[in-house]
Amino acid sequence: MNSELLRRDWQPERKQPAAAYIHIPFCAKKCGYCDFNAYSGYKDGTKQRYVDAICHEIITRGAGANPLTSIFFGGGTPTQLPTSALVKIIQTLRETLGITPDAEVTIEANPNDVLLHDWNLLRDAGVNRVSFGVQSFNPSVLRMIDRTHAPEDAATALETVRTAGIHNLSIDLMFGLPRQTLADWRRTLEHAFALDVPHLSIYGLILEEKTPFWGRLQRGRMALPGDVAQAAMLELAMDLTLIAGYDRYELSNYAKHGLQSRHNRVYWMNDSYWGFGAGAVGYDNIDRTTNVMRPSRYIDAMLSDQPLAFENTETPDLAGSIGETLMLGLRLPEGVQLTDVSNRYRLDIRELFASELIAGVDAGLLEVAGDAVRLTRHGTMFANDAMMLFIA
Ligand code: SF4
Repeated sequence: MNSELLRRDWQPERKQPAAAYIHIPFCAKKCGYCDFNAYSGYKDGTKQRYVDAICHEIITRGAGANPLTSIFFGGGTPTQLPTSALVKIIQTLRETLGITPDAEVTIEANPNDVLLHDWNLLRDAGVNRVSFGVQSFNPSVLRMIDRTHAPEDAATALETVRTAGIHNLSIDLMFGLPRQTLADWRRTLEHAFALDVPHLSIYGLILEEKTPFWGRLQRGRMALPGDVAQAAMLELAMDLTLIAGYDRYELSNYAKHGLQSRHNRVYWMNDSYWGFGAGAVGYDNIDRTTNVMRPSRYIDAMLSDQPLAFENTETPDLAGSIGETLMLGLRLPEGVQLTDVSNRYRLDIRELFASELIAGVDAGLLEVAGDAVRLTRHGTMFANDAMMLFIA
């Protein structure tokens, strides 16, 4: 990086978000591979207090802010809350910040929670997109990864939500799982295609330290597909989704009929967003804040009117902010428009990263096409290597 170009006083300005992420940290059972801020065993009374705490946070922080164009309930498992609680949070967002008429409102759902909900009420509240955590259609793989649903629950869940008139649906699938073979992964993909969902999110398992699976792996009590097998699974997913009519519009996301996730695009453009709830991350174009992680501490802080306690605030410097924008933008097949990023940061990105761009192209990871820099097919297989070129 040509750091000389960064020696100046200009800094980005704060930007009020038009997107909100709502974190619901409750799960029926903690999966052995999961390092999300998610917990099992919370009682209904605590969940109710958690909803009150989120509504309080929304009212306290969001009053007078821009109307929302996208809302995403993630977790954890948002469908572990009752319908009335989810509706209450949406109503609080509507009354406090406003929600535009065409806003995308997504709820992540566990397939076997779906029948517990009134999807007509959720639809009337504004929910118009549901993302199901399916992961696999192989029952023994599902058991291995601690999922509580059966393969057939996915079809029932999709039908239930479709009956309520919600058709913008997604399912999450994972590869690189214990006992998963390439043939098994192919069957899972084909099963998903047969359900005719317009959106798939496909992730490789990444084990983090301190998860139970990590411990089992270290002790030799679990085997995972190796790097070559995982690469073959990713290539198979890329090939089969293309044949099935899906457009790979982001490294892990595939859509039909243009039904891309509008909310996630906010992250990939490194745009600003609210984060409400325990451990939720928010970004205002300068600070990236993380709320208090533990739900009980979060509830106590919110309901006792303490000043909002962020567990962590990161303020990337100019180089860090530009690097993040490039790294996230490279997740998109169209890549990063160099002029847009140059205008955003008021300097010439091509000049700033001249040597990194050359190195990336020489390594076969990047291609520069006119104003765009993007990953090659080889680069999509080694995306981290390409992205790290731009992180100081
Ligand atoms: S359901 Fe999702 S969030 Fe909950 S423990 Fe499992 S992987 Fe984590």
